[in-house]
Amino acid sequence: MPIRSIKQLALNGKKVLVRCDFNVPLEAGRITDANRIDASLDTIRYLLAEGAAAVLCSHLGRPKERTTDLSLKPVAEYLSQALGHKVTLAPDCIGDITGRMVVDLAPGHALLLENLRFHPEEEANDRDFAHELARGKQVYVNDAFGTAHRAHASTAGVTRFITERAAGFLMLRELEALRALTENPAHPYVAILGGAKVSDKIGVIRNLIAKVDAILIGGAMAYTFLRAQGENVGKSRVEEDKIDLARELLAAAVKHNVAIVLPIDHVVAESIEPGPTVAIAREIPADRMGLDIGPATVAEFVERLRGAKTVVWNGPLGLFETPEFAHGTLAVGEALANLDGVMSVIGGGDTAAAVAGHPWAARFSHISTGGGATLEYLEGIELPGVKALEV
Ligand code: AMP
Repeated sequence: MPIRSIKQLALNGKKVLVRCDFNVPLEAGRITDANRIDASLDTIRYLLAEGAAAVLCSHLGRPKERTTDLSLKPVAEYLSQALGHKVTLAPDCIGDITGRMVVDLAPGHALLLENLRFHPEEEANDRDFAHELARGKQVYVNDAFGTAHRAHASTAGVTRFITERAAGFLMLRELEALRALTENPAHPYVAILGGAKVSDKIGVIRNLIAKVDAILIGGAMAYTFLRAQGENVGKSRVEEDKIDLARELLAAAVKHNVAIVLPIDHVVAESIEPGPTVAIAREIPADRMGLDIGPATVAEFVERLRGAKTVVWNGPLGLFETPEFAHGTLAVGEALANLDGVMSVIGGGDTAAAVAGHPWAARFSHISTGGGATLEYLEGIELPGVKALEV
């Protein structure tokens, strides 16, 4: 069913509830990565320019109760700077005082509601809470792709009470990129998967096996697959209870004529402690663990990417937070970014964090703001936050 764009809505003079994803990392009250806020600015600017009164809302972190640490105050300050006019923070997301502020909000102005998750009813998708959240707004806009895989009051329940609804520009960009991966993707189509656990990616692998031409696997999850092939992986991280499943997935790939490409060499160390002594190994010694893909694997992965028309990447290829183990992720990332004629989509989360700040990262077709949502979409699961926007 169709989803409307905010461009299709009459916005002038309307109070618009805008679900944003302002769930940004904070250190001592300072925002350390504002990408998610920046990604929604064009939606907010458009709403204001069209004469809407924008009531912005978001969750931040996982508060058990109201706490100043997880107040959206730093976000209100950041938005005020970025938009060039003051964005006031309401004391709550519902209630009389906030309700009055919404009534008084003039067209062309923005108000930020306080952290939605200060109320457990938000995650419980409580009907009354959703009703309260909707009070006084005539239009609902969802731009929070990063939370689209959750059926919460602000992402799903609220649409029972506001019928005029649409996706913001960020949500539309995210969905367009994901559609390119699932609806008639251009071939050759290659998936790169990494990260800590096979268990997180089983659904994705199952679903992608029917769609892609090759899956390149790195990160810790590769070791469970290598064990399934009978290789020695030393002290590398292995999910013992997933070895049979890895074997099954390898067999399914053969059946579908999909190449699963595993590392052929590794950057190894004794432990994950900082300042490690590292070595490159084809065979992992019994007292070492594999913490990054080695140079021969990088070359093999890059070779497999050459000529690809569609590439999706989810999960770092090594313990990238430690510089000694970041090379594989960065080398493959840079090579992919520099390929011509390819639709390259970077799943959010750790993969986006790993490539962030490198000048070549601007050359990917799309870097998602939602790791969990992207994964669920790639598993073939319908996203409730998207479903709720259908009209
Ligand atoms: P995920 O959340 O599943 O995408 O996993 C990301 C995490 O996996 C990151 O913190 C990486 O440092 C970690 N990781 C990637 N490769 C390895 C590895 N070979 N050994 C241990 N951890 C790894």
